[in-house]
Amino acid sequence: MKAFNFREHEFLGRYLELNPLGTEKICNFDCAYCNLGPSTIKLSDLKKYGGFPEQTELVAEFGRILGSSMREPGNEFETLAISGNGEPTLFPDFSALVSALLQKRNELMASQLRIVCFTNGEGLSDNATVSALNKLDQTYLKLDYGGERAFKQFNRPRTRTSLEKIIHGAKSLKNLSIQTTVLSGDASLEPPARLDEWLEVIAMLKPNEVVLTLGQAPFRDPSQPVSGLEAATEEDLHRLSHWLDRRLKIKARVGSLDVA
Ligand code: SF4
Repeated sequence: MKAFNFREHEFLGRYLELNPLGTEKICNFDCAYCNLGPSTIKLSDLKKYGGFPEQTELVAEFGRILGSSMREPGNEFETLAISGNGEPTLFPDFSALVSALLQKRNELMASQLRIVCFTNGEGLSDNATVSALNKLDQTYLKLDYGGERAFKQFNRPRTRTSLEKIIHGAKSLKNLSIQTTVLSGDASLEPPARLDEWLEVIAMLKPNEVVLTLGQAPFRDPSQPVSGLEAATEEDLHRLSHWLDRRLKIKARVGSLDVA
């Protein structure tokens, strides 16, 4: 898997995705719907894991791609999205990576380029991670549910974190947006109590925007199906968007982006 890939999306337009995690999926969640498959690499083994790309190489490559896009009309991109093959804040020195990417952007005088990150928020209890994210133009925080029970059941954190801790950390983020993966069946957000919890958290966090994305099958490894998990439809997405607008006066962006 290449570290940089151009992608196109309804709400980010043409953007450059940075995967700082190498070829293996590396995540501190094991979401029931993750189409990267199950999270198998032990978090306790990450220190000796040799598959992370070198930061200097990542930043040099970013500089090359950005430089050539600025020289070649029609090849521009407006956003660098740090996401990729799992949870990007697990990159060994995420703060240094963020600083080096920002410095490269400044060197190339590409102030029009937005640098954003997609995170599941597990790292938000770490001050260094929060302050790195606060240097970026936007942090998209995964928030599929507003209650602990559904969070544990379907996002399946692999650490002792809780939704409460993540929400607490999210309050320290300056440029916060919410990204929710919409699912169906037992994983649906639509039972009234579950919907209320989710809306309550969004109302409390006051994000800049809410992005609703479609959780689509096939999920994970088909040989390990998760009971009660069903793919959502465009209609599910738009119904949720309607509730967000009706209850919180927030116009969600909807799309099919599949990110951490
Ligand atoms: S969906 Fe994202 S947060 Fe969840 S397990 Fe997959 S990579 Fe991790």
